[in-house]
This record gives sequence, structure tokens and C-alpha cells, in this order.
Amino acid sequence: MKPANALLEQTGTTIFTVMSALSLQHGAINLGQGFPDTEGPADIVQAAAEALLDQRNQYPPLTGLPELKSAIAAASQRFYGLPIDPAAGVCVTSGATEAITACLMALLNPGDEAILIEPLYDTYLPVVKLLGATARLVRLEPPGWELPRAALAAAFGPKTKLLLLNSPMNPTGKVFTPDELDFIAGLLRQHDAYAVCDEVYEHLVFPPARHIPLMALPGMTARTLRIGSAGKTFSLTGWKVGYISGPPDLISLTAKAHQNLTFTTAPNLQRAVALGLAKPDAYFSALAQTLMHQRDLLDTGLRRLGFRTLPADGGYFITADFSALGFHGDDAAFCRAITTQAGVAAIPLSAFYAASPPGSYVRFAFCKQPAVLTEALARLARWINATP
Ligand code: PMP
Ligand code: GLN
Repeated sequence: MKPANALLEQTGTTIFTVMSALSLQHGAINLGQGFPDTEGPADIVQAAAEALLDQRNQYPPLTGLPELKSAIAAASQRFYGLPIDPAAGVCVTSGATEAITACLMALLNPGDEAILIEPLYDTYLPVVKLLGATARLVRLEPPGWELPRAALAAAFGPKTKLLLLNSPMNPTGKVFTPDELDFIAGLLRQHDAYAVCDEVYEHLVFPPARHIPLMALPGMTARTLRIGSAGKTFSLTGWKVGYISGPPDLISLTAKAHQNLTFTTAPNLQRAVALGLAKPDAYFSALAQTLMHQRDLLDTGLRRLGFRTLPADGGYFITADFSALGFHGDDAAFCRAITTQAGVAAIPLSAFYAASPPGSYVRFAFCKQPAVLTEALARLARWINATP
């Protein structure tokens, strides 16, 4: 047989699936893959259920149902003062995962360069490569995750087509500061490059940190595609409803990518997400508050156990350094050990670096009920005490 696609042959199964499977096999508490263990708002779920029963189950329009596109534009105005054209400036996708691929397909030609910031979400690099583009990687390092400004500036060149920015960032919990965003926007303007902004955790930000879309900076509207995810905003990760907003000329290209990927997204879920996005501000702040308490619970507990935790200002995750625990092995070995022996799963940080990862850091998800986090900490405590 002739060899099939070489890049996919080299790509392993995503770490999230690998660790969730190991977790299930060992009856572990899954603090690996990031998903909440409570349902999203009951009224939205009810609306999705009812919407299945009223005869609107055929293909929705290619770029999304008008009521959802209007709700996305209205939310963009409400939260960030960003005016978006609801008809031509929005493309609804089957999850942010599809949105990321669609944006990269819309902008990259073979031979172009895309700047990616490590640690990075695991779909970015394979998709850039599959499109025949070259990734220029810029590393953030623990514990500070500071933006290395000189290295970032040096990554730009004549072939730079875009920068992919994830803020709030998975796995670090970093929320890029106004000053950092300013610096990034300056480079993009200077080099006439585009920004693809993965902002799936936009509403999961813990005060005093504040999320500012890069798109809101001067001169950025025409060159930025902004991605959101109903899965994160409504704690319904299985729904896979994502959205891209941006200038109509670029959105029309993402729509052409989308028509070749999935073409459309389940209509009942789109209708329910439209209702969700119209929820009062109190819903969004309560979501962040709840997660912040869960972060604090896990953070305090991990510190008591001897982990050195790093600050997380947004998202679902805490990064923790386990080097003080005296474990012999790398981060992947540590995650396997705690999953199989302690009964708590986590994700090794090395999964988010293309090469030379920092060796002793793991990612724990805190989007779990307090009692579950408390039990996970108790299991880790027993394991640490029992390990010579
Ligand atoms: N980007 C980041 C940074 C994520 O963490 C995730 C998922 N968890 C996604 C994109 C994908 O979002 P979705 O589930 O809507 O496809
Ligand atoms: N984004 C989730 C995480 O980082 C996982 C999503 C997935 O499994 N594809 O844990």
C-alpha cells in the first residue's frame, strides 16, 4: 500500500483523549481533560430539547442561524463595544476547534509563516503544518509566562501571515495584559499580518484580571478573526458550538473553509446558544465567580501538598510544579503515576510544547464540584504520604 498522509501518520492521539481513557480505566478523578462536571444552565438545555420537537431539524444556513448570529454580534457589542455585522461578520462553526482550522485555512497559503505561542493548544501546530505553512514558535516559560518581546519581534519576517493568540490561555491561565496586547498589535500592524484570536475562555476570567480582545485595539478590526465557544461560556463542552467574528471579507473566507469542513451546526443547539448569549451580565459574572472559588480551593490544596502552583487568571486550569515532591521521572510519568496510583488524572505540560518542555509541570482542571476537588486532594495526599 502507498503511504497515507505523512503528517497524520506521525500525529499521536490527543493527550486529552489518552488521559481521559487512562482515567476511566483506573476509576480516577479526571482533572485532565477540561470539562465541567455539572450541566450548563437548565433553561438553555430545555430550550435545546424543545427546539428538537418543532420541525426545524433540516440544514440551517451555512454561516449560522440569523438569531444566533445576531446574538453573537450583540454580545460582542455588550461586552467589548466591538461592532460586528450580524449578517456578514459572523460564521458559526461546530466548536471552536473547527473555527481555528477554518480561520487558518482562510488565511494561510503553503509557504506562509504562522507565529504560534507555546505552550500551545494541541490542534494549532498540526493544522498549520497540514496547510503547508511553517510555524514559528515563540516560547513562554514557567513560572512567569512573560511574553519574550525580543523573541516575538524576531519571529516576524516577510513571510509572516498571521499570529495565533490564545488569551485567556490554555494551559497557563495567563490573561494577556493591555501592554502585551499593545505590543503584539504593533508588530501585526508593522508587518501587515493577521491575528487569529482563540478567546474560548473569554468569560472565564477572574478579577482583577480582565479580558481585552486584541480586535479592540487600534487598527486591528480589519486584520483580526475572533473565536468563541458556547461549550466554555455555558459549561456545555459536548455541544461543540463555536463562532468566528470579524471583517466580512475574511469571514466569507472562513465560511468557505467551513463549507468544506462541516458545512453547518445542529440547529437546536444554535437556537439554545442564542438564548444563552442574551443572558444578563449576572450570569457571566457568576460563572467566573464559581470557577474562581474552585480555582482557589484546588490551588490552596495543591500548595499544602507541596506543589508549587502558578497563578491562573482565567480558564479551567492550574499549572503546578511537582519537583518538590521528590518524584523521579518526567511530567508524563508523573501524570501516569497519579492517575494509576493516586486515582487523579492530570495533563503533562510537555503536551503543549513541540520540543524541550519544562520538565516538572502538570496541568490540573478545576472546573469540578468542590466536593470532587476535595476528594482529589485527599487522594493525592494519601499517595504522597505513602510514596517513599
Ligand atoms: N481552544 C482552546 C484553547 C481550548 O482549550 C479548547 C477546548 N477546550 C478549544 C479551543 C476547543 O473548543 P471547542 O470545544 O468549542 O471546540
Ligand atoms: N480543551 C480541552 C482541554 O484543554 C480538551 C478538548 C479536547 O479534548 N479536544 O482539556
